[in-house]
Amino acid sequence: MSDLKDRYADAVMNTFGPPAIALARGRGARVWDTDGKEYVDLLGGIAVNALGHAHPALVEAVTTQLQTLGHVSNFFATEPQVRLAERLLELLGWTGEGRVFLSNSGAEANEAALKLTRRTGRTRLVAAEGSFHGRTMGALALTSKAAYREPFAPLPGDVTFVPYDDVAALEAAVDETVAAVVLEPIQGEAGVVVPSPDYLAAAQRIAREHGALLWLDEVQTGIARTGAWFAHQLLDGVEPDVVTLAKGLGGGMPIGATVARGAAATLLQPGNHGTTFGGNPVAAAAALAVLATVEADGLLAAATTQGDRLAALLAGLDGVVAVTGAGLMRGAELDGPYAPHAVAAGRDAGLVVNATGPSRLRFVPPLVITDADLDVVARALPTVLDHARAAHAQETSS
Ligand SMILES: *Cc1c(COP(=O)(O)O)cnc(C)c1O
Repeated sequence: MSDLKDRYADAVMNTFGPPAIALARGRGARVWDTDGKEYVDLLGGIAVNALGHAHPALVEAVTTQLQTLGHVSNFFATEPQVRLAERLLELLGWTGEGRVFLSNSGAEANEAALKLTRRTGRTRLVAAEGSFHGRTMGALALTSKAAYREPFAPLPGDVTFVPYDDVAALEAAVDETVAAVVLEPIQGEAGVVVPSPDYLAAAQRIAREHGALLWLDEVQTGIARTGAWFAHQLLDGVEPDVVTLAKGLGGGMPIGATVARGAAATLLQPGNHGTTFGGNPVAAAAALAVLATVEADGLLAAATTQGDRLAALLAGLDGVVAVTGAGLMRGAELDGPYAPHAVAAGRDAGLVVNATGPSRLRFVPPLVITDADLDVVARALPTVLDHARAAHAQETSS
């Protein structure tokens, strides 16, 4: 394993910091490192591996499509591309009034949406503090974290940040110059931050009053993650104009989607936008397999039941002061800044755990996580947190 990590350091740009584990293979919600050590994967490729690792339906769909027609560019229509657009519109309830732009990542889905908002004739955007919308220049312009933004200034302008879950702040910020209000239904990278139940409906009302679009970034929350196809569907009366998707959509194959309805659906005109790989038949076939398997295997219900079990398990842990989220998107607030130590202790104990902040853990495992997987997690986590607390105490005393 150390050999692979050394080679990584010598060949791969150091944008993430050195990886702690070199992985060799995966199955379901388990992965194995290059030394053969097994882990329960509670990160799922950052909320991507909805079907877990090596799901037969995904392997079959990708293999069959690649053997049939792999890539053709946007000069041609293909069945997987069109079918996927149709399915996404069906799942959103937007058949006939919506249109889909397919791309390759969350940032790209957001770039397309950002360009779409410029075609309204307005340029201002209102986004939330704590938001994460991706790392390309446009997506970064909507992302609030200073450490991500500042090295790349100047970013595309005209973005106003308001505190998340603050209706009055939205009221004050949105006027006739605003093209769109862009929000995550649950903030993911911020550590699974859930707004008040009426926040998105209020945002929608405020946007509509001023002729602005409501754009929900469901890159992380979408595709059954929260127990609904889209997190906004957990709420009554929330009907965005634009939804962006990626992460879970391809189950591990790179794909992004920008979905718009009503007037927003036709803002991008021929020549306005493009991407060579967007609508790639293999990626689209993968996404169709994800959507079909979520339905066939009852993964919407599984996200809820296994998510509730995970939440209860976390809430019962010594050191966890709050559990947030919905379905299989959960945050755990610790009683001290020892989350990075919990990641390390989790690694020792055979758990892939993720920290989004000093005292915040995030859990976004595959939707196929089993009771047996959660049994392992339940047995291991108390010791993991004990060890993490001890490591942190030792670090601060020395
Ligand atoms: C991950 C994420 C993105 C960026 O997606 P990439 O595929 O990494 O470009 C955008 N928005 C949200 C809400 C995300 O969680």
